[in-house]
Amino acid sequence: MILFNPKKHERYYPDEESREIMQKTIAFFENKGLHSLKKDDQERIWYREFLDFMAKEEILYKLLTPSKYSDGKTRWDMWRIQQFNEIIGFYGLPYWYTWQVTILGLGPIWMSENEEAKAKAASLLKTGSIFAFGLSERDHGADVYSTSMTLSPQADGTYLANGSKYYIGNANEADMVSTFGKIKGTDEYVFFIANYKHNSYNLVKNTVNSQNYVGEYILEDYPITDADILARGPQAWDNALNTVNVGKYNLGWASIGMATHAFYEALNHASKRNLYGMFVTDFPHVKRMFIDSYARLVAMKLYAGRTADYMRSASLDDRRYLLFDPIMKMKVTTQGEEVINLLWDIIAAKGFEKDTFFEMAARDIRALPKLEGTVHVNIALIIKFLQNYLFNPAEYPEIPQRSDAADDEFLFRQGPTRGLAKIQFHDYNNAFSLYNLPNLKIFKEQIVTFKEMLIKASASKEQMKDIDVMLTIGEMFTLVPYAQLLLENAKIYKLDEIILDQIFDFIVRDFSKFALELHNKPSSTEKQMEYCRKLMRKPNVDNERYNAVWTKYVYALNGEYEMNY
Ligand SMILES: Cc1cc2nc3c(=O)[nH]c(=O)nc-3n(C[C@H](O)[C@H](O)[C@H](O)COP(=O)(O)OP(=O)(O)OC[C@H]3O[C@@H](n4cnc5c(N)ncnc54)[C@H](O)[C@@H]3O)c2cc1C
Repeated sequence: MILFNPKKHERYYPDEESREIMQKTIAFFENKGLHSLKKDDQERIWYREFLDFMAKEEILYKLLTPSKYSDGKTRWDMWRIQQFNEIIGFYGLPYWYTWQVTILGLGPIWMSENEEAKAKAASLLKTGSIFAFGLSERDHGADVYSTSMTLSPQADGTYLANGSKYYIGNANEADMVSTFGKIKGTDEYVFFIANYKHNSYNLVKNTVNSQNYVGEYILEDYPITDADILARGPQAWDNALNTVNVGKYNLGWASIGMATHAFYEALNHASKRNLYGMFVTDFPHVKRMFIDSYARLVAMKLYAGRTADYMRSASLDDRRYLLFDPIMKMKVTTQGEEVINLLWDIIAAKGFEKDTFFEMAARDIRALPKLEGTVHVNIALIIKFLQNYLFNPAEYPEIPQRSDAADDEFLFRQGPTRGLAKIQFHDYNNAFSLYNLPNLKIFKEQIVTFKEMLIKASASKEQMKDIDVMLTIGEMFTLVPYAQLLLENAKIYKLDEIILDQIFDFIVRDFSKFALELHNKPSSTEKQMEYCRKLMRKPNVDNERYNAVWTKYVYALNGEYEMNY
């Protein structure tokens, strides 16, 4: 079973408690049922019921408290955090979002040297509190350098906080709102804690029309003491970015969960619908779209799992996760959109029906690429790694699958955020030589030509400054580490090679599509255009493989899962 199926949850856990958390969460949603899930969504009901369930089971406490701040029975273990992400994403963005912003809110706390704040956070988690992360501001968006939230030092050594934050999840109920700003009159960054219950914390509104509370709050002469300060100066800045590194990873899983649920729903519907005397699943284009969605979903999942292995094994000497993580954010979430687009073309009008999970997924899957830095911000980040990744590999010990019950405390001491372009990677060719498959071979040839283009027809100084051009080059480059990690995980999971070659079928097509995009940029040179033409390749045609994937893996999922109503 590659795709998650709540009714056949067989994932390995190193302890019984982790399995219980997942099973109870699945049971919570299946007992609630689709009808109630949709009603709450349509009436925009705050998910008190879910928060109460998590509080009763101490889920946030158990999953999000590093062991040294608890009774020792909790841990921040990304093996199980992955799974929890996928499960709640499977039942909808709202449930996932309140958990996600709690993770973001906790980031600056666990990263801080303020032990009192950490002890407070742990005890709040124990009683089921949620947390919030106040980074974004209405006027500054992605430009967090320009924050206008300030702390003004007072004569008695305290501070007064003034300013507003916008698009802040859980801002309505978080006892600890990690808030980012500057010391007034300086360029010194600061992270401090505010509490939504304080009189000087003015909750203005929910900025969205949703079950989620994505709030605007204003602090007006809000009193702050040193006990509320989490970090100052470069440390505060690094903690903001390092928190986003932790949170970004989860976005991909929300996308996988939602798209998987939508996939089952679409397949169940299409396979039963008979038009002109044939089932919709018998139309050749429908078959193609299902196979493509399935291959994309499996690829997303393989990539996501392998990225966690690198994150869990990271250290100050191994920061490869800093490339794999933004790819998880930008690539996996946009692939989720792609899967929904394909499925929606199949189920057409059904995708609008109010009783479907699909209707919710189609709307909400769009959010994920836009949170925690847009796709563009993340590609701009990814590009920094291109040179070393493609041309300057280094030796690293092999990273095994990390399903052990470790506490991933390195995530809270990631260190300075500088020096990304200096990070080296193990040779991607190792993964590419694990298999000998026709479409993989074509993709390998595309990579060789791509590298040749980067050397012999490199981007001019003007093109390098043109982010539009660089985004397309970034998309092309991204496919290489994306393929590398999914290949590594395919080996670990002993994935059937027919699925793997089907995955490389879409990778070859996607790479060709980006090559065409680059070819057609206004600034592309003759030489670059010539290379782009060489980069546009047709995948290998193998009807036997294609039909076998359909029968053995895709159509076989028909009727395998339907949410309790
Ligand atoms: C539902 C929702 C929930 C959210 N929850 C939170 C939360 O809990 N806490 C929080 O702090 N924030 C939160 N946010 C804010 C979110 O992180 C921001 O939306 C995001 O940082 C981008 O800001 P923006 O949407 O205002 O885009 P803008 O800043 O207006 O950017 C517009 C465009 O400019 C371009 N751009 C900007 N910078 C760059 C760059 N460096 N490189 C390349 N292109 C660039 C991109 O093309 C981008 O699309 C949330 C947002 C939403 C919609």
